[in-house]
Amino acid sequence: MSIITDITIPARAPYSVVLKAGQVMRIIDLESQQAVDALFYNAADTTERYSAQDTLAAQAAAGREYYLSTGSVLYSNESRPMLTLIADTCGFHDTCAGACSCEANTVRFGHETRFMHSCRENFLAELGRHGMGKRDLVSNVNFFMNVPIRPNGELTVDDGVSEPGGYVDLRAEMDVLVLISNCPQVNNPCNGFNPTPIQIVISE
Ligand SMILES: [Zn+2]
Repeated sequence: MSIITDITIPARAPYSVVLKAGQVMRIIDLESQQAVDALFYNAADTTERYSAQDTLAAQAAAGREYYLSTGSVLYSNESRPMLTLIADTCGFHDTCAGACSCEANTVRFGHETRFMHSCRENFLAELGRHGMGKRDLVSNVNFFMNVPIRPNGELTVDDGVSEPGGYVDLRAEMDVLVLISNCPQVNNPCNGFNPTPIQIVISE
């Protein structure tokens, strides 16, 4: 494998890249406890995009739980494999809790948080660079985000469990447009209340 991209994404910043089928993207949580929100689109036809429902249904059929980890396949809304998690040092990647937004912050944490930066803003800014907008915001993956589901069904964002330098490797199964929001949230523990940089390494 040879490295074709090696880039550090600053705290709170967005990023996007097209992976060719067969390329592997490593997302590295440099300082630990950093949630990395991600959206995925078929690079050749962006109406085909990541589907949390298809992904979790396939996992359940394979006897896996709802967290994503090594062996998980990320499926599109056309039930085709988009990416496969081929390595993972963390074990806790969520696809149930969605991305933070100023609207959700207002409901969860109070009106004074409305003007804080959020993943939704990062995604909208990055979608605009690819000719897409609000209607293209769909379900996402939250890498390194620990979201246990309580026995009563309650879904909570708990302290992150990733170690410094922890990583996940994603192999593209088709040409995939990847959008990333290095989550700026500081109102819950998904980033240890301290957003930090991440590193992206793409190899083929
Ligand atoms: Zn966020």
